[in-house]
Formats: sequence, structure tokens, C-alpha cells
Amino acid sequence: MSTQVFEFVTIFPELVRQFVASGLMGKAIEQGRVEVHSTVTRELTTDKHRSVDDAPFGGGAGMVMLAEPVAQAIESIEEHRGKSLRVLLTPSAARFDQRAARELATHDHITLLCGRYEGIDDRIREHMVDRAYSLGDFVLNGGEVAALAIFEAVARLREGVLGNPESIETESFASEEELTHAGLEHPHYTRPAQWRGHEVPEVLRSGDHVKISQWRERVALQRTHTLRPDLRPE
Ligand code: SAM
Repeated sequence: MSTQVFEFVTIFPELVRQFVASGLMGKAIEQGRVEVHSTVTRELTTDKHRSVDDAPFGGGAGMVMLAEPVAQAIESIEEHRGKSLRVLLTPSAARFDQRAARELATHDHITLLCGRYEGIDDRIREHMVDRAYSLGDFVLNGGEVAALAIFEAVARLREGVLGNPESIETESFASEEELTHAGLEHPHYTRPAQWRGHEVPEVLRSGDHVKISQWRERVALQRTHTLRPDLRPE
């Protein structure tokens, strides 16, 4: 499969640099399966103060990120590396989930727009963005953490990025069609079988794979029903 290219538009590229270089993602980058670039909006400003924000029209608290440096970042990215899917991070959007991750994994070039302050001038969203996602119903100081979460959730779905691709098929939210993998995953245990007086369920040590898989299915459904009934309302 082709390399998946991620572009972060940010004023804090150091946050991106360290995160993407760690663990499996760092390995995927070394192997050329994933490529990451950061474009720093502050470097695209022309005024002497290198301003990336200004007061909001209509008044109110906080500052708003200027549209122009963000637009220039998008244009410069696409001039150098071609058209990309432009994704805005904002709490005012639908929540990002595994279905969205699967969809984004089909794109080879994704630009993640990280806001700061009160967010980016909304004309960027209105005229230059393909998708907007929220990480959840809470407010972060900036879009970088949300963009990095999306980067990891998406890139790990690409062929060859995970050592054992089977885990993608069985983990939480893996499939909307398949009953057992639509919701939360079953619990995992490893050695020792007895730990501080707590025992690993007997069935998992029985070697009976049919029983193990039935147990896992049942516990996963119970967990989903109890903790996240919204995932399987019926
Ligand atoms: N004024 C915004 C509001 O009330 O919805 C909050 C802005 S927040 C302080 C600054 C930036 O952090 C946002 O522009 C966005 O890029 C990012 N951000 C904050 N919370 C987020 C979330 N839950 N999901 C995605 N991005 C978020």
C-alpha cells in the first residue's frame, strides 16, 4: 500500500515531532509507510510581530486565529505535495470515532488543522475544509492532542503499520456489522494466573478455543451493554 502522508498545521510543531517519533508510529515512519510534516502558521505571517491571532468581531473573551496564515499553510502544503483531505479539529463538530478512522484511513494525504485560542476564523471551516471532528465533549487548549489522536487511530489501520493486523479485526469497535466486534472488547489477562489473590478466569486457561471464544463474546457484550449501551441499544 502507498505511504500515508499527514500534515499538521500548528503553532507548536515540537508537540507533534516527539509524539510521532515514538513507538509503532516512529517505526512506521522509518519504514516509509507513514510520512509526517508540520507547517507552522507563525512562519507564514508577514507582520513584524508574527501575529497569528486577533480580537473577535462582535467582542467577547479570547482571541481568534487569523484565516490567512492557515490558508497559506494549506496552499503551501498542497503546492508541494498535492491535494489533501483537509480536517479541522474543533469541539464544535461530530465526535471522531472508529468509523471515521476507517474512512480517513482510505485517504493517502490528510491535513490536520490545529486551532488555539478561541479557534480558527470560521471562514476557513466554511470555505477550505473537507471534514471537522471533535475528540469528545470537552475543551482542550489546542487541536494538537486531538490531531495526534486522530493521526494514531488512522495510521495504525494502514496495511503493515501494526505487527499483528489480526488485532485490528477483533479489538473494540472493529466492525459495525459483526455482532461480537461492534462494541467494546473483552478483557485481557497475562501471566501470572494468580496475582495478589486475583485469579484469571479458568476458561481462558482451559485450552478449549470454542469455549474461550464464547466466553469472550459474552463478556464483551455484557461490558458493552453495561458501560456503553449507546453502542448497542438493542
Ligand atoms: N472556543 C472553542 C469552543 O468553545 O468550542 C474552544 C477553543 S479551544 C480552547 C482551542 C482549540 O483547541 C480549538 O480550536 C480546537 O482546534 C482544539 N480543541 C479543543 N477541544 C477540542 C476537542 N474536544 N476536539 C477537537 N479539538 C479541540
